[in-house]
Amino acid sequence: MSFLPFYVPRHKQLKIVIAGGGYAGIAALVTFLRHMPNADITIVDPRSHHLKITHLHETFRYPLEDFLVPFSVLEDRFGCHHVCAPLIPEECNLRQWQNDKFLTVNNEMLEFDYLLITSGSAVAQMDKADNIVDLHDFMAAPGSSLLDGLLDTSVKGERSISVVGGGATGIQFLFEIAYFLRRQKIESKLRLIHDADRVLNQFTTGFSTYTQARMADLDIDFYPDTHYYGQRADTILLEENETGRKFNLPSAMSFLFLGKKPETFLFANAFGQVMIEQNPLQNIFTAGDCSSYHSFGSNTMTAQSAVRKGKLAARNILRHSGSLKLLEPYLHRDLGYVVSLGPTEAVGWLALEGNVVGGVPALLIKEVVEAQYDLLLAGIDTYLI
Ligand SMILES: Cc1cc2nc3c(=O)[nH]c(=O)nc-3n(C[C@H](O)[C@H](O)[C@H](O)COP(=O)(O)OP(=O)(O)OC[C@H]3O[C@@H](n4cnc5c(N)ncnc54)[C@H](O)[C@@H]3O)c2cc1C
Repeated sequence: MSFLPFYVPRHKQLKIVIAGGGYAGIAALVTFLRHMPNADITIVDPRSHHLKITHLHETFRYPLEDFLVPFSVLEDRFGCHHVCAPLIPEECNLRQWQNDKFLTVNNEMLEFDYLLITSGSAVAQMDKADNIVDLHDFMAAPGSSLLDGLLDTSVKGERSISVVGGGATGIQFLFEIAYFLRRQKIESKLRLIHDADRVLNQFTTGFSTYTQARMADLDIDFYPDTHYYGQRADTILLEENETGRKFNLPSAMSFLFLGKKPETFLFANAFGQVMIEQNPLQNIFTAGDCSSYHSFGSNTMTAQSAVRKGKLAARNILRHSGSLKLLEPYLHRDLGYVVSLGPTEAVGWLALEGNVVGGVPALLIKEVVEAQYDLLLAGIDTYLI
């Protein structure tokens, strides 16, 4: 059992429910067990697997199964219990759960000392026809079979494929698609449609310049400042933001990466306790993409913030259950961010946002970060901060 500052245990065993077994939930699970090895932990998650979602674009090269860890494996590894169901963290439910200290899912009553909500964020969606693919489809089937299944290979001649959304997720998929088409020798024209004037516009311009140069090398057409309205049969409807000019382009299929829906936020104080009408719910904490902490720490929807919040929420739950009740504020600042540009390179920043790193060094940083998360999944916490 590792030492945790300001934690003077009062209980030998706590009953903890974690709603959401993603990055924040797993980070919390490992942290609980590090400091309280016999904690009684239940993970409530509607999926049967933990999904290593930061690898999803790599399913153009590897099977989807490589990035799925069944919750049954985690049950064996960590001695926790998985209930396959969603939890609906609406205000009235939260109040009820705080009062009752139990909740009911799948007709199973789950008593808890603490509830930690780490249910992630919903992906933005549009109505879509059969030849449109979005992030949800990639969670069910690998990119290679989605593309193969939709592109009629018997059709001769060049076909156009549209990727919509030039944020971090859209760019990672765009490059994987470009390399996949080359490897498979599929004759096609790939284009990116993006609502802003440059790709990766949440980062400094160095990111965009580097990435757009690599797109040009791969002969990917770029439509900046362009709004996507939808796809009908083999055509997409677009509008130029500046002029309002509407136009159509031929497109055999579209991939949509429209970002995340920010509406599922739970607000928390600096210690991770859920706030309702400015009052903290003493026994309900939150972490990860579904949470917004009122503190100086980073609220970005990234795996690194999710892991840091998950670990902090777990430490604070343990401290809250102890005699001192001295909690630690969330102060984590992002240390960097790397976006992969296909199998062999990446672009990212390290330490300072203006410090842009490209090529193989950036890819190596990404691989180290992913390896660190794999160790956490194995129960080995190597995160120093
Ligand atoms: C393709 C892709 C690539 C990415 N690459 C990177 C990257 O390189 N670096 C980086 O820092 N970030 C990256 N991100 C962002 C990162 O994956 C997220 O910020 C991170 O996964 C958030 O962790 P989380 O635990 O909050 O949510 P998630 O990891 O999404 O986990 C949420 C869990 O909650 C479960 N759940 C959902 N609804 C409910 C409910 N109602 N009740 C119970 N459980 C529920 C889900 O099934 C899921 O298991 C990427 C995201 C995507 C989509």
